[in-house]
Amino acid sequence: ATPSTLPIKDCTSITPPYSRLLKTLDQVRDVLPTGSKLTLAEKILYSHLRNPEESLGGGNGSNTKIRGERYLKLRPDRVAMQDASAQMALLQFMTCRLPSCAVPASIHCDHLIQAQTGAESDLTRSIEQNKEVFDFLQSAAKKYGIEFWKPGSGIIHQIVLENYAAPGLLMLGTDSHTPNAGGLGMLAIGVGGADAVDALTDTPWELKAPLITGVKLTGELKGWATPKDLILHLAGKLTVRGGTGRIIEYFGPGVSAQSCTGLATIANMGAEVGATTSTFPYSDNMRQYLHATGRGPVAEAADDAAKKGFLSADEGAEYDEVIEINLSELEPHLNGPFTPDLATPLSSFSNFLNTNKYPTTLSSALIGSCTNSSYEDMSRVASIAEQAKAAGLKSKVPFLVTPGSELIRATVEKDGLQDTLESVGATVLANACGPCIGQWKRDDHKGEDNAILTSFNRNFKARNDGNLKTMNFLASPEIVTAMAFSGDLNFNPTTDSIPTPNGPFKFTPPSGDRLPPTGYSAGDLSYAPSPSPVPQPDTEIAISPSSTRLEILEPFGTNFEGGKGELPPMRCLMRVKGKCTTDHISAAGAWLKYKGHLSNISENTLMTAVNDENNSINKAVDVDGGEDTIPRTMQKYKERGEPWMLVVDDNYGEGSAREHAALQPRFYGGAMIVARSFARIHETNLKKQGILPLWFLDKADYSKISAHDHVSTIGLEQVMDGTSTSDIITLRVERPSGEVEEIKTRHTLSKDQIEWLRFGSALNYIGAKARE
Ligand code: SF4
Repeated sequence: ATPSTLPIKDCTSITPPYSRLLKTLDQVRDVLPTGSKLTLAEKILYSHLRNPEESLGGGNGSNTKIRGERYLKLRPDRVAMQDASAQMALLQFMTCRLPSCAVPASIHCDHLIQAQTGAESDLTRSIEQNKEVFDFLQSAAKKYGIEFWKPGSGIIHQIVLENYAAPGLLMLGTDSHTPNAGGLGMLAIGVGGADAVDALTDTPWELKAPLITGVKLTGELKGWATPKDLILHLAGKLTVRGGTGRIIEYFGPGVSAQSCTGLATIANMGAEVGATTSTFPYSDNMRQYLHATGRGPVAEAADDAAKKGFLSADEGAEYDEVIEINLSELEPHLNGPFTPDLATPLSSFSNFLNTNKYPTTLSSALIGSCTNSSYEDMSRVASIAEQAKAAGLKSKVPFLVTPGSELIRATVEKDGLQDTLESVGATVLANACGPCIGQWKRDDHKGEDNAILTSFNRNFKARNDGNLKTMNFLASPEIVTAMAFSGDLNFNPTTDSIPTPNGPFKFTPPSGDRLPPTGYSAGDLSYAPSPSPVPQPDTEIAISPSSTRLEILEPFGTNFEGGKGELPPMRCLMRVKGKCTTDHISAAGAWLKYKGHLSNISENTLMTAVNDENNSINKAVDVDGGEDTIPRTMQKYKERGEPWMLVVDDNYGEGSAREHAALQPRFYGGAMIVARSFARIHETNLKKQGILPLWFLDKADYSKISAHDHVSTIGLEQVMDGTSTSDIITLRVERPSGEVEEIKTRHTLSKDQIEWLRFGSALNYIGAKARE
């Protein structure tokens, strides 16, 4: 085993509660038909059920009927949050006034660090620019006992893998690449802040039981092929939507041969095919990684759980779909431009570029990020750099390296790999997201067509440098590095040579160590928070009243005075036409800087939505006939103290689980939204914020409610006080002409959700319950 030069960590709070999980799994087996075979993903999910009978019982008993149909009420073990999304998650958590978090949690300052000149200066400048956000996050962490990883400590997913991930764990993270931690045989799921708050407040976290795609790996990786190439290849097969509503579970002889960090790369990019998450059976390589990162006690507990059959699928478990990949046949891939599922094998890449008339000159090469900055990646990359250096070559283009964490940076420095990379022209950036998330102050190629190669995971337009014309091709760090010495995208490092004064030079395939031969180096210890911090309730939350980026979130008042009754009669503010995703409801882009300031970000509410009555975007008509933007019209209603309702179309609120899309209408006084249909997660988010979502029984009734009609509910009172179990709520619609019509809708409120409405929000209810 690789030696650990790190002290053995206190693993109390990071060891999964295996005995409780195994006990729950026994209860699950009692509920399921005798002899049911479970996949690994099902074992991890079901062992985290709060009540197996409630979630799995009463059906027809077949596993496949649970998958894709049942809603599971789960108890996640841990939460991780990055600095951009943590802001609203914590502001919401604060509204329920609990003294501490219900599960261990961590905050990671990584997204707000901008790359420009190099690690030290970039870090200093970014800390200054974002000081108020970091100060707020740190104060909240101290108050509630959350581990705080300050700017420069590393990227959320790398730190989670090195410190918190453990086989069999269920973790939520407020970032789409949270599944990276699946490399250690767990389920790590990317969610919005409202879901994270569920876990932080011990509220059941609901997930529709995903379908399970099995990926069988056979053969072995050879030559230049890497785990990155496996997921690039799979992305090409599955496309960006192929994993939606699914967990990808890998199995077969090819899994155990992969390093733990290589598996993390594969799991990381499962997000690119839309998968809920990805996972792998516990392996010897995972065990070694746990030991090497100071978590021997976790490995020993996992060994024991594995012996009891917990950390792998049951023999004969069935998948909803099986894809087989022979690793021996896999060649390096380059995916892009502009979408991660456009996969081209290296041998046809030159042809692909020339056929499409894409640029063939490389303009920058970037390696690292949360996807590919393991010790194995860096040592294999250094082996390529060593060869190039010996041949007298230097990188022909800017060559930027983003270490995933201080642990990686310090170890790479200790082992001389950093020197090697710098000697061929690399610039090492701060341990942060940097160019991967557009935090790259790039001075060249502004507005020009150009092609970059990265070992990152996403390549949507403008993702890296803000230039819509920059084509980002995703590849393994080894391919990116080798190409940097040629500068020509027609170059195939596996077959071609680079001319040098001493004759043609050809690379031999990269080699490297999976784990550092003399152990990891912790580096600057000031980056590591103290484990299991104790909440300090007297800590003052650092938010300046004059801040434009942060604002204390005031708990919403109830729409049900006296705690029961019908909603007050209210006007319809507008009828929204067609597709309306959470991005239409709360746009991203430049608005992201206001994520922690509800008043400011609300000014983007529905600004790209189409008004069905005037067919225009972002135009609503107020009661006095004046036309204005949608958010300003909402603001006017709010100023008059007049609650309002919306009529919306099919699948309202699809897209990412952005809690702002529910918070903002509520902030402006929205009390009810009636839809042809809702996207499920958004519908729940509306209920969480105290907005009543209703479904038209007859979708044609959508056009029967217009702006300024007075709408009141009939039958809600009986649902609220429990005297009616009917799901029908009638709307009484009174038109300005005096004409009255009744329209039937249905609600989907559970008992708990009725309380959320009654108390004004889920968090108000949770806080009130905790104070009882
Ligand atoms: Fe997201 Fe990139 Fe940061 Fe990873 S490195 S967490 S993909 S922004």
